[in-house]
Amino acid sequence: MTVITNHLPTEDLQALDAAHHMHPFTAGGELAGKGARVITRASGVFLTDSDGNEILDGMAGLWCVNIGYGRDELAEAAARQMRELPYYNTFFQTTHVPAIALAAKLAELAPGDLNHVFFAGSGSEANDTNIRMVRHYWSVKGKPRKNIIISRENAYHGSTMGGASLGGMVPMHEQGSLPIPDIHHIPQPDWWAEGGDMSPEEFGIARARELERAILELGEDRVAAFIAEPVQGAGGVIVAPDSYWPEIQRICDKYEILLIADEVICGFGRTGNWFGSQTLGIRPHIMSIAKGLSSGYAPIGGSMVCDEVAEVIARGEFNHGYTYSGHPVAAAVALENLRILEEEKVIDHVRDVAAPHLRAAWEGLADHPLVGEARIVGMMGSIALTPDKAARARFAAGAGTVGLICRERCFANDLVMRHVGDRMVISPPLVITPAEIDELVARARKALDETLDAVTAQGLLQSAA
Ligand SMILES: *Cc1c(COP(=O)(O)O)cnc(C)c1O
Repeated sequence: MTVITNHLPTEDLQALDAAHHMHPFTAGGELAGKGARVITRASGVFLTDSDGNEILDGMAGLWCVNIGYGRDELAEAAARQMRELPYYNTFFQTTHVPAIALAAKLAELAPGDLNHVFFAGSGSEANDTNIRMVRHYWSVKGKPRKNIIISRENAYHGSTMGGASLGGMVPMHEQGSLPIPDIHHIPQPDWWAEGGDMSPEEFGIARARELERAILELGEDRVAAFIAEPVQGAGGVIVAPDSYWPEIQRICDKYEILLIADEVICGFGRTGNWFGSQTLGIRPHIMSIAKGLSSGYAPIGGSMVCDEVAEVIARGEFNHGYTYSGHPVAAAVALENLRILEEEKVIDHVRDVAAPHLRAAWEGLADHPLVGEARIVGMMGSIALTPDKAARARFAAGAGTVGLICRERCFANDLVMRHVGDRMVISPPLVITPAEIDELVARARKALDETLDAVTAQGLLQSAA
């Protein structure tokens, strides 16, 4: 049996890693200079690194390990499926039991008439499917020119050509000639950073009306769909004002625009319901799913599709699919994950215990001198760091300078908390206990104190002009 060497000294592992492993979203020079943190095992909400440190994972990996680490049942499900049928495809009128069972289960869990699923290997692939599906849908309905998809600045929809084009991340668009044609971006509903003198409610309406403005400008006959995350995740856990989503829903209904909810983070309990659309009161035609679908134990994603869109697509052949669409091992793992979420009432735990406890502790951080606002929906939260709360000011130092200092202080205190510019974000496993939440927030506060000291010492506590 192949044994993956775990016994080399950390520096040797880091040297091999820097020499041969190209990392996503990592600066090469930094990697070679400092070495990557080597994670060797994990259990519950704690990671262990190659030096034996126990780190509280405030991010559930990349927003995905909803049921926590170390669940043997998922390993057993994978092993059982690998022995029985390790692979078969779902092309050309073939299927297999894990894909059937998972599709039926997802149809049962999804809201409304989202009764159909097109499987993918990831969230990015699901969104690539969505681009092709909504364009093809309108084409079948005799409107081939209705092919523009509207998304939002600072959205994250994955890293493939399609996913990154839908996303509104400028540094991603700058590499590889993105976005692809016929993708249009409107501003995001980030009141704290961009709301100026408006009340949050006024701002929510104003930002939703940007969608209407874009539709009127581009032409109703040109716009196929609007895609958005119920709560922006990688953009910094941006929670729209309450007025935003009802107005977006009204506009999509009025102009016959398909609404795609990217539930890759918000799905599977993260917001206190099975799907973020339920928490935010959205009625999507399509939902992108991945991450929490398998709690990250196996790569799998998909598009949940409503009856009408599925019926139109099924009129002919949809020339699209992935070798691993509905992969039996990934599907078996996802099914077992859903069984645990359901039978152990994890979403009830979020709604009744974990989310209220986290909200109280997290919002308590708003009294910290560096914290401008603390936002939270279910089990995803963010704090905005600022040199001047009252003015909702940015730092004079480049965006992310202070956020990075804070992230380093978190690591030093054995907490994984990510920074997005100068926002700090958390998204812990849903099974986290109240005592572990207290520990998480205590470490976050200590990291904030140390950040304030460092920022003060370095003269960075200056507002941008
Ligand atoms: C992570 C993410 C994706 C991309 O999923 P991958 O599995 O990384 O391809 C898409 N949408 C959202 C909202 C995400 O957070």
